[in-house]
Amino acid sequence: MTITETGTCNQLTDRFGRHINYLRISVTDRCDLRCVYCMSEDMQFVPRAQLLTLEEVSRIGRIFTELGVHKIRITGGEPLTRRNVIEVFRQLGKLDGLKDLTLTTNGTQLDRFASELRDAGVKRINISLDTLQQERFSKITRTGRLQRTLAGIDAALAAGFEKIKINSVILRNRNHDEIIELVEFAHSRGIDISFIEEMPLGIIGDHDRAEAYISSDEILDIIKQRHELLPTTESTGGPSRYYRRTDNSARVGFISPHSHNFCDDCNRVRLTAEGRLLLCLGQEHSVDLRRVVRANPADDAPLRQAIIDAMTIKPRGHDFDLTSQPVILRHMNSTGG
Ligand code: SAM
Ligand code: SF4
Repeated sequence: MTITETGTCNQLTDRFGRHINYLRISVTDRCDLRCVYCMSEDMQFVPRAQLLTLEEVSRIGRIFTELGVHKIRITGGEPLTRRNVIEVFRQLGKLDGLKDLTLTTNGTQLDRFASELRDAGVKRINISLDTLQQERFSKITRTGRLQRTLAGIDAALAAGFEKIKINSVILRNRNHDEIIELVEFAHSRGIDISFIEEMPLGIIGDHDRAEAYISSDEILDIIKQRHELLPTTESTGGPSRYYRRTDNSARVGFISPHSHNFCDDCNRVRLTAEGRLLLCLGQEHSVDLRRVVRANPADDAPLRQAIIDAMTIKPRGHDFDLTSQPVILRHMNSTGG
């Protein structure tokens, strides 16, 4: 057991001595977009009756913070498409032990929700954006309108979040010619940007992931041809490696599951929308917390114990391999990326 920065006891340590202080919660596997690296064209979604209720999500979040988790990210699917989801932010935003309540979103609903999220206690927000060209946006998302996400970014800026970050998945010959534009778009607005290497989760039926792969180092080299970048020692306690431009205070980050494996420092677990606690993004080890929550509506002790026990099956790391068929059949939208 360790004492966390917020003064609570962290009771979540795995077999490899890693302290788990970060929970990502998927509140839905549904989405208004169908990004080609995330989903297949014809997705089967979890029937709504099988989802955790919003009250159950908040209860599980509370127990995690009592066990020492101090950061929770709400994600999906597209979290802002879940009806009344703002209530989860309001409940979690009140928790004493929680230092950081954040959100990952595709931005399409942010013009409606940005202020309410800010009022509920969300200080930082990640918005996904892979291209600045409308036609390409429709191709990558299979359905979307770029204008909705850009309006969402404007709304987030107006709402005054402490930190906004853009996440971009770069695919060779699809959007790799826009790396510089994406950096300049973000940095001209004082927004950080992170580039994520595509992960082989689920069968997507769109492109060959090995053929579309472009490493973080190659992206870094492309940016360095235009802008001087210096590595920073800053860490957000996650897998991102950060660089700073010499002429701009915003940062460029890289999340590189293939080229710079980050598993040794893993501090996180994920809760799927139907209540499965996933111990690793790239492995199937999991525990059904929905069953425990529903069997014990008025007693938190069994849930607390189930979470502590789950740490013993957290695997050492992922075995992502782009050259074979995906071993993990669940898509990113049901994983809670
Ligand atoms: N819908 C929200 C969004 O797009 O930001 C939240 C969920 S989405 C699954 C979270 C992040 O995962 C997004 O930044 C998305 O680009 C990224 N993502 C989805 N599929 C991925 C994959 N196969 N490999 C790497 N990143 C992926
Ligand atoms: Fe939806 Fe996000 Fe997946 Fe795109 S990456 S399909 S926006 S969940």
